[in-house]
Amino acid sequence: MKENILGVDVCHDTYDELAAKLMEDINQRNTSFIVAINPEKIMKAQEDEELRTLLNKATYQIPDGIGVILASKLRKGKIRERVTGIDMMMKLCETATVEGKRIFLYGAKPGIAREAKVKLEEKFPGIQIVGVLDGYEKDKQVIETTINESKADIVFVALGSPAQENWILANKDHLYPSVYQGVGGSFDVISG
Ligand code: UDP
Repeated sequence: MKENILGVDVCHDTYDELAAKLMEDINQRNTSFIVAINPEKIMKAQEDEELRTLLNKATYQIPDGIGVILASKLRKGKIRERVTGIDMMMKLCETATVEGKRIFLYGAKPGIAREAKVKLEEKFPGIQIVGVLDGYEKDKQVIETTINESKADIVFVALGSPAQENWILANKDHLYPSVYQGVGGSFDVISG
């Protein structure tokens, strides 16, 4: 279920509901794309039609930001719980560990994704982080091959917005992984 806030679709799902849907996407080998929606993105999307179209192309738009909850309440919508990008990433890491799904970290400055991997391995014993790649690699073939050969199920993409959303849309249908989440500066936060 989704509701439309000023032209931008937002999902009603909680962390648990989304995690279950994403595991199902992986099991069915469906491609899905998660984008975090905050009030800044909704405001920008008012004048920027290209951004609005891009956000609406995601499979799951999560309500990241109290302003999105308020906007839903004002229009008597159903969104009550904030679902932040970083907490959704953590939930997905936890569920992937239990379900044996494989994770790839793509983005941020050289060395950061590797440090984030170490931190996630400490937090989720048994997690399978099968590859990392920094966000300044320019060779598209290297990016594609590294991700495909890892046989990851989930890719967290930390290139900033809207670069990460554009990258996901351009690549998700020809790469091996099923689930793609744009996570902004999350690797910097996790590694720090
Ligand atoms: N970044 C990247 N490649 C680039 C430009 C940026 O990997 O060509 C990374 C940057 O190192 C940082 C993240 O993208 O880790 C952007 O973080 P920010 O907090 O600015 O994200 P946003 O606020 O756009 O979600």
